[in-house]
Amino acid sequence: MAVRQIRVIGDEILNKKCKPVKEMTDRTKELIEDMFETMYEANGVGLAAPQVGVLKRIVVIDVEDGYQYGHFGRRYIHENHPEIIEQDGEQTGYEGCLSVPGKTGVVTRPNHVVVRALDENMDEIEVEGEGLLARAICHECAHLDGQLYTELVEGELMDTENDEEEITEE
Ligand code: ZN
Repeated sequence: MAVRQIRVIGDEILNKKCKPVKEMTDRTKELIEDMFETMYEANGVGLAAPQVGVLKRIVVIDVEDGYQYGHFGRRYIHENHPEIIEQDGEQTGYEGCLSVPGKTGVVTRPNHVVVRALDENMDEIEVEGEGLLARAICHECAHLDGQLYTELVEGELMDTENDEEEITEE
């Protein structure tokens, strides 16, 4: 396992569309492990493969708030070609991104989503998320289509240093 370099805004790889994972190879397994390690090292709650320079539809998420999705355990999912199949409600709050260091902004997201994805065995799963998990799922899936949250920010991007509130970075 290794911590990989996180690409930051301005790197064109962050604006590209990612390709589905067709089979689970040792290399892909290693990528997923590295993504978790990189995310934890950076104190993030989510990370998408393009953020470490790989154009594959893989995201890892750990919001450390297991009650809604406890049966997946702490490292709950490897989403290979995640697709949001249901969404409802609304939440408005601060969002951050490991690829946009030092910044935060207000984004409105659905408060509840259901996502269909493949797990690490390439079996189809559905994951339901509320609150922060729903926000993280939306944020990470958008990365796979080359979209950063900065496109969705209401008002101005702000410096995190000037903000008392704890920001979750994805
Ligand atoms: Zn992000």
